[in-house]
Amino acid sequence: MKKNDLTLSRRAFLSSVAVVGAGSALKAARIQGSGSLLKVANEFEDASNYVEESDSRLLKRLIPQPAYVRLNDDKAVLLNNMLTVNVELGTSDTQARRKVSDIFRQYFGSTPTINVAKTKDLASEEAYRIRATDSTLTLSATSFAGIRHALSTLRQLAEANNDTEKLVCYRIPEMEIEDSPTISFRGMHLCWFPETEVIQIEQYIRWAAYYKFNYIIIEFWGTYPFVSKSFLSWREYKTTLKDIKRLVKIGKELGVTLIPQINIFGHASGSRRASGKHAILDLYPEYQPLFEPDGWTWCLSNPLTRKILSSAILETFEAFENPPFYHIGGDEAWGSAECYACRHADYEALLIDHLKYFHQLLLRKNSRMMMWHDMLISKSNPKWKEYVANGGAKAENILRELPKDIVICDWQYGTQYSTHKKNETWPTMSYFKELGFDVLACPWNNIENIKSLGEKVRAAKLYGLLCTTWFGPSIGQMLNIMTHGAQAAWSKSPYGPSDRIMGMRHLRQIGWDIPIKNYPNTGVHKWQVRPDTYP
Ligand SMILES: [Zn+2]
Repeated sequence: MKKNDLTLSRRAFLSSVAVVGAGSALKAARIQGSGSLLKVANEFEDASNYVEESDSRLLKRLIPQPAYVRLNDDKAVLLNNMLTVNVELGTSDTQARRKVSDIFRQYFGSTPTINVAKTKDLASEEAYRIRATDSTLTLSATSFAGIRHALSTLRQLAEANNDTEKLVCYRIPEMEIEDSPTISFRGMHLCWFPETEVIQIEQYIRWAAYYKFNYIIIEFWGTYPFVSKSFLSWREYKTTLKDIKRLVKIGKELGVTLIPQINIFGHASGSRRASGKHAILDLYPEYQPLFEPDGWTWCLSNPLTRKILSSAILETFEAFENPPFYHIGGDEAWGSAECYACRHADYEALLIDHLKYFHQLLLRKNSRMMMWHDMLISKSNPKWKEYVANGGAKAENILRELPKDIVICDWQYGTQYSTHKKNETWPTMSYFKELGFDVLACPWNNIENIKSLGEKVRAAKLYGLLCTTWFGPSIGQMLNIMTHGAQAAWSKSPYGPSDRIMGMRHLRQIGWDIPIKNYPNTGVHKWQVRPDTYP
């Protein structure tokens, strides 16, 4: 639909509603000059007195906010067995009927009549359209990814039909929704610590998929179950290959590609720096030659380092079923070039060779290397004064030698290093792009930072957005990262509301899918009253 058509149809609809004095969801029509229900939703957080409450009640359910929403709350469509679902697909998918049927049973507990037909492609691969009226629901998309997104949107909007004690069926208003992502690479970076439970990783994969993310990077913190090099992980806190295979399969079913991360430069301890732990050296001091003296960074002079890391990469690569990307870390390589061999070597040349070697290793597997940006720009360069830059004086020379198909993950969290400015331009990201690299903008836990980087990706046409979480789950930051990250990655500014309680409803729905039955894994926090805070 062209922009003008969209505006016209929306206005025509709203004025027709105003004439008939329609129900609560449509009172937004009275707001002069706003012209759309979406605008009402976008202003909800900042101007609640300006907004008709009932509209925001429906629209706040949708995270991320679709591009175009038209709801008629005077008429319901019941998602029961009497419903007819017409699935219109641009590309043929012989499994489409079964998949829609499975999702309907899981989300809505019903078995409607499902027809699958061919249609013209929509605007983009993941775009979708929903039309619901009387007892017919029509879902249109280019590929099944779009149909899956449509069903996620429907699940968020649907509510229980409240005329029985126990759930019989869900209802949605009559509606027309058109939607497509504004960013094609929408990633979430998760950490698998010894303290992380596999069920949490599953929750986050499902939650991210529900919010229309399509890539998830999993960084192992001494927790990967290496077969050939078992000393690389903690003895008692590693996960199992069976769990990893299961998560990769879940990701595929949900349209999310899982990408492994093993650090091949800094962060060699596989542990948070402040913890003082070292996943390898605490138990196996005999492996000290593989590291710089303080243990934080791998020794690049020792050829056996490369051999061991190659084996670790290939093992994880295979477990993740040959992913199109592989993250090698590469950040915060403190204490590099400090052992005898490294401090007497041409360290820049050593690092270039190290990175190129792993780039080639992955390229031969048809996988693109991803890495953090900070060691590739110089700390002493005044241009990066307010931004994260941890490289030595010759960092930019190293950068220029690297193959341009490496994906640079530029993490700038704003508040830690500089106050987030109005009209922030995030120049490091543009610099990498100008040199020919694909760049992922990586925010963390600051909401304004997340929003700003989403805008940067669209404005500078960067490769995508990669939300990072770090130890966020343990201090209750996951909800903000997920909800605001979803808005920033999928829709565009001004973003729709990221309603916290609605976000928790979405997490609960995921809990039903898993299913979660034990108390600590429900909700966003393990404990309501943390034992360590209230002993
Ligand atoms: Zn060394």
